[in-house]
Amino acid sequence: MYPPMPQILKTEVVDAIKKGVGYELYKQLLLNYGKRGEKAFFYLRDRRVKKYKDFFVVVGREEYIVEEFFCTCLDFQVRLKGKRPCAHIIAVELAKLCDFYDKIDAYYVDFMKRYTYKRRQVF
Ligand SMILES: [Zn+2]
Repeated sequence: MYPPMPQILKTEVVDAIKKGVGYELYKQLLLNYGKRGEKAFFYLRDRRVKKYKDFFVVVGREEYIVEEFFCTCLDFQVRLKGKRPCAHIIAVELAKLCDFYDKIDAYYVDFMKRYTYKRRQVF
């Protein structure tokens, strides 16, 4: 199991989001998380956070599955070594706080199966 994460987001960020997805939030994200915070802001603003029945997914250059304090991206697993949140985790936490995400009435695992199948056909 992952360590309990009662507060993935810093208090300043949580306070800022109460004022909406605007400049104050952007500023706090940039101050607290640098480039990752900035990316997270745009993921949120552009509604790239999707909630499937089984997982939260963030649509970036690829699609990343986020589950609590875990993300399938390389940044999280390699550079951050799973110790600090990547842009996708931050974006999902923000989206949960302000209910700002698209709900998709399907299971993401079904999409993954189809994708892997397609890939196999190509190679
Ligand atoms: Zn990530």
